[in-house]
Amino acid sequence: LCITDPIEEHRICVCVRKRPLNKQELQKKECDVITVPSKCVLLVHEPKQKVDLTKYLDTQAFRFDFSFDESSSNEMVYRFTARPLVETIFEGGKATCFAYGQTGSGKTHTMGGDFSGRTQNASKGIYAFASQDVFLLLNQPRYRSQELEVYVTFFEIYNGKVFDLLNKKTKLRVLEDGKQQVQVVGLQERQVSCAEDVIKMIEMGTACRTSGQTFANASSSRSHACFQILLRRRGKLLGKFSLVDLAGNERGADTSSADRQTRMEGAEINKSLLALKECIRALGQNKSHTPFRESKLTQVLRDSFIGTNSRTCMIAMISPGMSSCEYTLNTLRYADRVKEL
Ligand code: ADP
Ligand code: MG
Repeated sequence: LCITDPIEEHRICVCVRKRPLNKQELQKKECDVITVPSKCVLLVHEPKQKVDLTKYLDTQAFRFDFSFDESSSNEMVYRFTARPLVETIFEGGKATCFAYGQTGSGKTHTMGGDFSGRTQNASKGIYAFASQDVFLLLNQPRYRSQELEVYVTFFEIYNGKVFDLLNKKTKLRVLEDGKQQVQVVGLQERQVSCAEDVIKMIEMGTACRTSGQTFANASSSRSHACFQILLRRRGKLLGKFSLVDLAGNERGADTSSADRQTRMEGAEINKSLLALKECIRALGQNKSHTPFRESKLTQVLRDSFIGTNSRTCMIAMISPGMSSCEYTLNTLRYADRVKEL
């Protein structure tokens, strides 16, 4: 890898990652409709039919800061997305990285990695890589003398409510004080002193997120998970890195479901993803008004959308299969709108 830092200059970076076809998809002989011809461009080859029933492929092109194909590793994706943001928190800034996309597209795989023990080699995700680099930087001469402490938090936002994943899914209240500071009351902050400590927290929070659920994806697809790395100097907050595994974007379309609960959850997800897009766009355009109050997600992340030293990265995850084509296009259009103008 010898490409220069992709987002040195701008505040918003938008990338796309395509996962490989999985076993089931290969068994069903599902077609891969995505190609990545260069490091920025991604093509969707959508199968269509003319009125005379002849079939053809309608190719649509998208351009992002980076397009990762199925051969890219979590580490590579990390290097070009979240890695350039790590320094920001040492300089007193706020960094955020979002994984956006359809359920099953690879959001949790990319962000959290896999420590389930199902595979022999535990694979790290962006949470772990970012933490590792925080400790690397912390031990460099220019920061070592600063008495910096590292803490992590891990929580889930489900249907507009916040639950602490490092404290038995305790439901937490979100308060906004007179100075528009937003506080998640009682959120556990665990001090960590090395990358291994952080991995334990990731494992603990991930287990908590999926506990009590037969189908892990059934609940996690409807919630946003937020893992934060906090840097403190003698107790005072210096910088914060929020890494967010968003709810499946297809759930936002559940607003016409027959089931009332599902419908309400869908509406909430839709609202939060729309608010998120607007907040990121406001950050990129240095707008004075940021609609962070529109959803719990954006409210909790409020301080990440304001200030001169805030930087954001969004990774749009896509499934390569033909049957996902419609959702893939939705994901790409959303990501396209988030791009800095
Ligand atoms: P999401 O969180 O978006 O619902 P997951 O991260 O759970 O999706 O991914 C769905 C499945 O696909 C998981 O079994 C995961 O391990 C696998 N997967 C996702 N991305 C990749 C990838 N880049 N390479 C290999 N397997 C992947
Ligand atoms: Mg997931």
